[in-house]
Amino acid sequence: MDTVNKLFPANDHEFCQIYVESRITDPRIVHLLNEISRMGCKLPTPFFRCAPCLLPGEETPMMTAGYVLGSFDRFNDIKKLNKPNSKPRATDGLEEATSSASESDYKLQHLLDKPGIIICEDVLHKYGSMNSENNLVHELIHAYDDCRAIMNWADCDQIACTEIRASALSGECRSMYEQLRGHYNVKGQLMNCVRRRATLSLKHSRYCQDQDCEEIVDRQFDKCFADLEPFISRP
Ligand SMILES: [Zn+2]
Repeated sequence: MDTVNKLFPANDHEFCQIYVESRITDPRIVHLLNEISRMGCKLPTPFFRCAPCLLPGEETPMMTAGYVLGSFDRFNDIKKLNKPNSKPRATDGLEEATSSASESDYKLQHLLDKPGIIICEDVLHKYGSMNSENNLVHELIHAYDDCRAIMNWADCDQIACTEIRASALSGECRSMYEQLRGHYNVKGQLMNCVRRRATLSLKHSRYCQDQDCEEIVDRQFDKCFADLEPFISRP
């Protein structure tokens, strides 16, 4: 990453780079990156990529950050299979390179030509500050799961599982964030939040949006909520 003037970032891109530099020392992020490497997945360079995500005239982003699926050794194979104008492949475990379930949208294909985790520099000010490092941990859980299991990202049960884990392990469902979202019911708060956010993410997936997402999340919930890897306890 280029050295940037930390006091006076000149633009969104520099601001985003400073943001990433300041967050990658978070112990949860360090642990996830180490575990991904330990499992033998080679991290692309740069792994965290600041990029504009808003399309012309668009004010509401489709995502604030996203993991580009198949970012490890399979990335080039997946790209080769997806020639321009071809239909997305969703078989053989080598589906198209696309963003993670919660953030997937065909309009964002221009962001997906390189592997790694995209941080949307043009919406970071608006959406990134409150929950920022949790966003990175969320995407890293998807990366970890992709490395661990060679995921089929057209399989809605697998997507539901990684979304449950990402919501449960990222810290985005801590009570302080839930209250800021207007959810004040403390009883069962963590599970309710994880269930709600995983379902929402699944509904945004192009492969799963026409299916009964609540039912899929329910089916996967207990097993995936209990799966804390690579942490020993819920961070
Ligand atoms: Zn997600």
